[in-house]
Amino acid sequence: MDMLIGGKHISGEDLEEVINPYTGEVIDTVPIAHLQTAQLAIDEANNAKSKLTEMSAFKVSNKLFNVVGKLEERREEFAELLTLEVGKPINEALVEIDRSIETLRLSAEEAKRIYGESVPLDAGLNGKGFFAFTQKLPLGVVAAITPFNYPLNLTIHKIAPAIACKNTVIVKPPTEAPLTVIKFCELLNEEFPDGVVNVITGYGSEVGDYLVTSPEVNKISFTGSVTTGMMISQKAGMKNVTLELGGNDPMVVLKDADIDKAVKGVINGAFLNAGQVCMGVKRIIVEDEIADEFADRLVAATEKLVMGNPMDSKTTLGTLISENAARQVEETVNNAVEAGAKILTGGNRNGAFYEATVIDNVTPEMDLVVRETFGPVAPIIRVNGLDEAIEVANDTEYGLQAGVFTSDYASAMRCAQEIEAGTVFINKQSTFRTDNMPFGGFKNSGVGKEGIKYAVEEMTKTKLIGLNLR
Ligand code: NAP
Repeated sequence: MDMLIGGKHISGEDLEEVINPYTGEVIDTVPIAHLQTAQLAIDEANNAKSKLTEMSAFKVSNKLFNVVGKLEERREEFAELLTLEVGKPINEALVEIDRSIETLRLSAEEAKRIYGESVPLDAGLNGKGFFAFTQKLPLGVVAAITPFNYPLNLTIHKIAPAIACKNTVIVKPPTEAPLTVIKFCELLNEEFPDGVVNVITGYGSEVGDYLVTSPEVNKISFTGSVTTGMMISQKAGMKNVTLELGGNDPMVVLKDADIDKAVKGVINGAFLNAGQVCMGVKRIIVEDEIADEFADRLVAATEKLVMGNPMDSKTTLGTLISENAARQVEETVNNAVEAGAKILTGGNRNGAFYEATVIDNVTPEMDLVVRETFGPVAPIIRVNGLDEAIEVANDTEYGLQAGVFTSDYASAMRCAQEIEAGTVFINKQSTFRTDNMPFGGFKNSGVGKEGIKYAVEEMTKTKLIGLNLR
């Protein structure tokens, strides 16, 4: 597939293969762009700015709604391409497309709500006799740099609000999974003037870095790992930056919890998308009194998952993004076992597949739970009481989301207030998000929020206009 720059399809001499992680076959190729092409995208995005700012909010909103309709019509086709390039089960791919449609629809609605407020200057010393109001203005050119795990919805979480508040966009999709994003940007390009949306493929370390350091890019909206996010934050200078980074989300299961509900939360939270979810359940902190029973029921539920061809609608566990990624998970689990942890079910790798794995007797200092393990693994850490549960939950550099299972409202409230995370759900796993909610972590999990209205806040600048009426 070609890149899309200034409304034109741009190919290249150097090509990168996009591999189906299930079959190992090459699905397609994309150009490996270099700096000149990145500069071309920056020029085109800058040239297109006025075409968008001159458009009425009514028209921008309508055009976004038109893209909603186009994506709805091609829902299955997009889901199949997504499954081919990332290996997620087709039913999960369909959910990602449905959420992408929702994210777009929310943005089309928000495009009509970009407004400021009147400001009572007379509340300040010397302000009497003024009338003042604010306007929300676009930042200019937004660079959207995105990861492989939910390539389409996470990219739309950047492009759609950016356009809703009249920014032009340069998208740098993940090298491992760029196809669905490129295809989607073509739909946007059919509606909006050339250069409003540009997609550049190539390596993050080269073209991504160029976008981050260019003075002609006004905002970096990044989703990906903490390591890359930290690098971006050091290099971006005075640019406005939003960073949606990794997570190591705890699930706290207290002795008075509904165990079946908590088990269901792990199945949906630790194994969804083969565990490659930023807000996945990555540490299960269980009170000792119920840990044996919880572990038994979790193993029984885990063994019902169906690992297989991601295109088969019966499959509930697909591949990881690559064999290399599966090897990393295998190595981390094996190290934990050597350090004393015990596999209750799973623990085997086959190519890019890694079995859904429940592992008990995990201690907080094991790498498996210190770092973000991006695979289908449910590590159980046993604790004594609420205080220790909260202490272990907070013993991490991350703070994306958290889930707490208990039937006691006082314990629930203590966890909600004391767990350091951007979101704490009670009686729901961390792996839950609606596309309108403010989403973004504390600590090293990020800076800023997404969720359409909140993304718009981060993609606009506020101008105050004051009239001296005296
Ligand atoms: P990643 O390696 O950080 O890559 C993310 C994107 O950054 C890719 O497009 C990559 O390009 C690009 N990139 C790499 N180096 C760069 C540089 N020096 N400058 C600019 N861009 C650069 O992350 P990933 O492995 O794809 O994704 C998994 C991570 O994302 C996990 O940690 C996960 O928790 C996190 N995540 C967070 C959220 C959230 O909302 N908080 C959501 C989903 C995922 P290449 O592909 O070409 O290297």
